[in-house]
Amino acid sequence: MKIPAHDRRTFLKYAAAGTMGFGLQEQVSPAADPGLLEVHDNASREGTEILQEVVVRVEAPDDPLVSTAFNMLKDRVELRCPVKVTRGAEGAQIVLALDPGLAPEAFRLGPENGTVRITGGAPPGLLYGVGKFLRTSGYGEGFLPSSWTGVSSPQGTLRGMYFATHFHNWHQQASDAEVSRYLEDLALWGINAIMVAFPMINLQGWDDPQMEAALSMMKRYARAAHALGLQFTTGLGNTMFIGTPDHLRATPLPDPTRRRGNSGHPVCPSLAEGHAYILDNTRRLFENLADVGLDIVCFWPYDEGGCACAKCAPWGCNGYLRLSRDLTQLGREYFPKLKTVLSTWMFDTPPEGEWQGLADALAKDPGWVDYILADSHEDFPRYPLDHGVPGGLPLLNFPEISMWGNSPWGGFGANPLPARFQRLWDQVKGTVTGGFPYSEGIYEDMNKAVVAQCYWDRDRAAADTLREYMAYEFGPGVEEQVLEIIGLLESAAATSYRKEPVDPEAARRACAAAEAVEARLPDWGKKSWRWELLRLRTVLDRERFGGDGLESPAAEAALLRLMELYHCQLETDDPYHHRVRPPLKRALSRNGTL
Ligand SMILES: [Zn+2]
Repeated sequence: MKIPAHDRRTFLKYAAAGTMGFGLQEQVSPAADPGLLEVHDNASREGTEILQEVVVRVEAPDDPLVSTAFNMLKDRVELRCPVKVTRGAEGAQIVLALDPGLAPEAFRLGPENGTVRITGGAPPGLLYGVGKFLRTSGYGEGFLPSSWTGVSSPQGTLRGMYFATHFHNWHQQASDAEVSRYLEDLALWGINAIMVAFPMINLQGWDDPQMEAALSMMKRYARAAHALGLQFTTGLGNTMFIGTPDHLRATPLPDPTRRRGNSGHPVCPSLAEGHAYILDNTRRLFENLADVGLDIVCFWPYDEGGCACAKCAPWGCNGYLRLSRDLTQLGREYFPKLKTVLSTWMFDTPPEGEWQGLADALAKDPGWVDYILADSHEDFPRYPLDHGVPGGLPLLNFPEISMWGNSPWGGFGANPLPARFQRLWDQVKGTVTGGFPYSEGIYEDMNKAVVAQCYWDRDRAAADTLREYMAYEFGPGVEEQVLEIIGLLESAAATSYRKEPVDPEAARRACAAAEAVEARLPDWGKKSWRWELLRLRTVLDRERFGGDGLESPAAEAALLRLMELYHCQLETDDPYHHRVRPPLKRALSRNGTL
């Protein structure tokens, strides 16, 4: 029985279980899927069957990450269809293998001797191959292994994700199991690093009662990352504890554009005692991380950081550079292979020659920096695009995927912004080799997938990534309808950001379309938190832009459910929790909202 490729998944959903054969006509072309480096004729898969029992043969040396790749494959398939996935040698339909001829992070996927073979250059490549395989397979009454065929290798070298762990947001509140599972999901999309900051900004000092919790949260992320072969990164700078002695404090920054910020308790490193205080505290942090390991540090200049005294200014190409170099030296005493990322966030805001000063400094002394990171609140900084990256170093970005047009952050559910991230990516895709998107929670999961795939393949279109995401996370055959809904939601967010009235009819239409899609989703899709976040967003947009407002019963129920999904506190002592808590009127912040 021949089924056109675009109907394949729809058909699968309704197909009777059993041995019905499929003629797989799907031809992957480089234009449709630019991650593909080679295309093979997959006509040999004619006759592939829907599987009721899946046997996976592992032809790879014993390695914890290979076992993890198998476990993730088993778990994700069994979640989506009523089949049993077992590991065995006889009768295998799927093979997991390694081929050192491929780059370590690359994978090859395709048919061979009646099996579908997922081959990684090394265990990380195998894991990424399993991700592609899972997202392009079919799930119904049985399992239809992916027909995607080719070799794919990441273009970006450092494909990170930054988890802001504060304000009692999801990243801070999630359990070990939730964090591990979420990192697995992101690793399947191709990331190879995460960053978590140590929250000195919230702590009095090393004897703060919250210190143990803060350290165990850091270690939770480090362990979960390393279990998946991801590099663990933390941020460093001159911002220290709340209890920093007054006489060590930095001179506040002039911030005429009000974009740099003066958060936290920065210390002046040009004071000998201030310098020693920063190094001592950073040394103690390294000692605390020695058992879990640290792969990368990211130096951060502003918002939490900076000093405007005469000896430190201009901070970005003077005090900041000297301190970052000293901290690098210190870090490499504990972690000899430690890599460094030097952020230039908000450099030259206002113009004071920081970019040029950085270029001059790195021309003389380049050895201690591995990556330059650049970004801003809006369009990408021009300097590295127009003049080249200081030191000739690889450039990373820091896309803000969480807050734009969205306050409280995540407060109305999912915030997919594919058009925005496509536009921002197109400005830098020829220059940037990865980055660390800024994440406040799980509600921007679609943005994460879009950016992670841009890092993997700089020409991959956001809409194309989202089609793959929807088929895999929501269910088959709804990709185009959900893309339309997302277009309406993004348009509403952009209109609202410009403080213009949102079209109430469009908000109602998006919600009705989501209801219609939900009726067609398989049970696992309906129950997935990813779908729920998107559907709740359509309900809340309808209520706030085209309905009875955020105090209607439908809106209140949606806000409460969001709070549950985010592990929010209905009553809180955290003075910043309101930034990440859905705006339910009866939610209480005992310490005010500032
Ligand atoms: Zn200073």
